[in-house]
Amino acid sequence: MGMKAVKFGGTSLCSAAQMKKAAEIVLADADRRVVVVSAPGKRSPEDEKITDLLYRCYEEPDDVKKACLFEKIRERFDGIISDLGLSLDLSEEYEAIQNAGVKFGGRDYFVSRGEYLCAKIFAALLKYEFLDAADGIFFHEDGSFDGRKTRTVLSALLAQREAVVIPGFYGRMPNDTIKTFPRGGSDITGAVAADAAGAYLYENFTDVSGFLLADPKIVDKPETVSIISYKELRRLSYMGASVLHEDAVFPVRRSGIPINIRNTDCPDDPGTMIVEKKKTGAGISGIAGKKGYSLIRVSKDRIGVDSAAVQSLLGIFERRQVAAYADARSVDSVGILVESRNIAGKKDYILNEICQCLEPDTIGLSEELALVCVVGEQMPPSVPAAVFCALEELGERIRFIGFGADDIVLTVGIREQAFERAVRKIYEKIGMQKIKKSAAP
Ligand code: ASP
Repeated sequence: MGMKAVKFGGTSLCSAAQMKKAAEIVLADADRRVVVVSAPGKRSPEDEKITDLLYRCYEEPDDVKKACLFEKIRERFDGIISDLGLSLDLSEEYEAIQNAGVKFGGRDYFVSRGEYLCAKIFAALLKYEFLDAADGIFFHEDGSFDGRKTRTVLSALLAQREAVVIPGFYGRMPNDTIKTFPRGGSDITGAVAADAAGAYLYENFTDVSGFLLADPKIVDKPETVSIISYKELRRLSYMGASVLHEDAVFPVRRSGIPINIRNTDCPDDPGTMIVEKKKTGAGISGIAGKKGYSLIRVSKDRIGVDSAAVQSLLGIFERRQVAAYADARSVDSVGILVESRNIAGKKDYILNEICQCLEPDTIGLSEELALVCVVGEQMPPSVPAAVFCALEELGERIRFIGFGADDIVLTVGIREQAFERAVRKIYEKIGMQKIKKSAAP
């Protein structure tokens, strides 16, 4: 029988009702035998995540306030247990957590208890075995993740067990203290567990039905992306789209395990599949972008084909530790695109140095630029056409164009002011093409 690893995020486990939904999902499929949990999240926008409460409680200097905060945490968990009708008593666990001091690593140990207690409850609800992440997930002395030891030990532990619940977010240091991954790190635990279990799928259940084609704060009800490749995912997250963290992708990508982002509240929605290779004609997988770029434009006869001149131009940026995001060249001009915050306070020095070293005919600086990126492997020619058409309709001049060497991302630089409008128009134009295509005889 094959195995799926399933991870539930904080909102999927924020209350007894949500936990019941999550449990139903797990039990509906006999392959879902490795379950990773986050700590209970917010029940409403005003609510506080358990992990945030734990951080606050740990930092609180006042003993009375500290005890109150801990009581609040305890009540949250005990409330869930009683609403679920479980006969589980975590009193000893609470006591151990409060009395641990710095024994198990102080802060990291303390804040990881949200996942620990949640996993205890969810395991009792599912009647699955609780498997402590401290016994199967390991870090090196320098705090980096020890993938080799984790894979060996966790694989062996999982092979001996029928079905388990593992707390996300943390693991063990060589000195037996607890260490956490970065915030949101339960996604990493899920991926690591999927890999160690030899799962054929890593299902990541959250509160949305997969990735959206554009930012819903900009585009009204954007479509869900049904399939996206790992490469596309990287490009999108680099451009600020809130997708899975690189570290959460690496362990499963290496083993060729696809990820399925699903919605606990709409378990029948297929969500988004993240795969190594998309089938041809799968369309674009996202429109993302960011404000805050500047373009330094230098023109001089043949500068764009004079590699020594380009080298010395790039050297000026390098010496001032300004990463060039991209460059655009023609025979007689070179444009260097940088993040504006990286040249803040250094602009005049850079421009002066360029003038001295290269004696250009003209030099210019365009600030307050935004980049809009359309991401899609094997992008059909109609996509760039739609992008240019959208900008033309808005009367928006393109300040920069980039088309990565691997044909995955089309980037256009425009005025920051036009950013949201442009994203909406581009989304609309690309959508129109799809409608036209499906209406065609
Ligand atoms: N509970 C942790 C956090 O809030 C880890 C996670 O949810 O993935 O960051």
